[in-house]
Amino acid sequence: MTLATTLSPTAPTAVVTGGSRGIGRAIALALARDGYQVLLTYVSRPEQAAGVVEEITAQGGSAASVCLNVGDSEAVQAFFREQVKDHVNLACLVNNAGITRDGFLVRMKDEDFDAVLSVNLRGVFVCTREAARIMSKNRTGCIINISSVVGQMGNAGQANYCAAKAGIIGLTKSNAKELAARGIRVNAVAPGFIETEMTAVLPEEQRKLYTEAIPLKRLGTAEDVADAVAFLASPRAAYITGQVLAVNGGMYC
Ligand code: NAP
Repeated sequence: MTLATTLSPTAPTAVVTGGSRGIGRAIALALARDGYQVLLTYVSRPEQAAGVVEEITAQGGSAASVCLNVGDSEAVQAFFREQVKDHVNLACLVNNAGITRDGFLVRMKDEDFDAVLSVNLRGVFVCTREAARIMSKNRTGCIINISSVVGQMGNAGQANYCAAKAGIIGLTKSNAKELAARGIRVNAVAPGFIETEMTAVLPEEQRKLYTEAIPLKRLGTAEDVADAVAFLASPRAAYITGQVLAVNGGMYC
């Protein structure tokens, strides 16, 4: 594990949760290319997180990775207290970490509902609260939450996931209103079906059905999502807050 203490204390820094693979990895690389120092977190794949740090370093950027379960509120608070506050110049937070525990409603266990809500929604809330406390002092910052098209349109077999992703939209809009006076922008990106490990489990038949239902006739890439996040994290989005940017090939407009 690379320790966050290897980072510059003054360079504008983006924290990307779940930056070890998939969409989070692409976001970490895109933000590094745009000049952010990146502090990315992982939970189970230290080697992949270290690989992303190496890629960023090889591109001339600066990055470190830290193990953090965003579903563990105390661990999140300790992370922001011990690795972020007074250690880096927190300019951007991307709440990307997410899990699925799919199942039809009548068979869904309380544990599966709670696990998804705790990582995908409460994790976003706790990370945002801790980051906002730090950013408020600087009176600047941006927060980008990764929601989902299914949080906007629903999906059979994903009641827990859709509830969390819809909740992220309410959280984003409320936090944007509260934090605007402190110079902090809060937006969400709602990806459609994106080629990552999360969607690799889809049977071929279902993948075909989804592709047919997408006006642009392809699944998205992690880079498609990362480009939208990089825009929202840039000065080009300086007057944008409280918005949900859909990156879904036209699936839900
Ligand atoms: P992924 O490939 O499954 O990667 C998930 C990432 O989250 C990994 O970096 C993983 O870390 C991390 N993670 C998992 N549980 C965590 C926890 N408890 N605490 C902290 N980090 C945790 O997922 P993805 O497809 O890139 O999705 C990224 C985000 O986009 C998620 O919020 C997902 O819901 C959302 N999204 C995805 C799609 C899609 O089609 N793929 C569509 C809409 C929205 P490790 O590598 O260490 O395990």
